[in-house]
Amino acid sequence: MNKKGHVLNAILLALGLGVILSVDPRTFQPNDVESYLSIAEKIGQLSLPIVLGALFPDVDTAFGKHRKTLHNLPVLVTFLVFPLIFNNLHFVWIGVATHYVLDMVGSKRGIALFYPLSPQEYDLPTGVATSSKYADPVTLVVTVAELGVLAGVHYYLFSLDVSLAAAAASFSAIL
Ligand SMILES: [Zn+2]
Repeated sequence: MNKKGHVLNAILLALGLGVILSVDPRTFQPNDVESYLSIAEKIGQLSLPIVLGALFPDVDTAFGKHRKTLHNLPVLVTFLVFPLIFNNLHFVWIGVATHYVLDMVGSKRGIALFYPLSPQEYDLPTGVATSSKYADPVTLVVTVAELGVLAGVHYYLFSLDVSLAAAAASFSAIL
């Protein structure tokens, strides 16, 4: 996927996730201005880290091997753990993760998920050429699917709007 696709995906994801994380469908008050202010605040909080995270993996076009050096699970784990240790860069991992998903689902070439252990690139057969006229529709479909998964996790498994430590604790509580 090209840069435009990644940014489009990240912005839409931040908008959708901002709603998911600040709206509890069971208690939402549609007439309360406060509800909309908290959605706007959450979108503001999420958008920059997610967009930056979505741009990060393609830095390996300049440093290292493209679709390998910064397109792998160890890099994603680093961004998941970093906020726990240093208490910053929250939500950047969502941008990195969505970049991987879009590269795997929405483009012809895969990514080397287990690099540097293996240079094998993984892909799904759904890919379209990044120059194809279907690139934007595919990006939209992928974004909607991701929001569905994130909403499911957030509403039914554990809150995504907390530190990973709290998420891990609540996750282990339901096991
Ligand atoms: Zn990429």
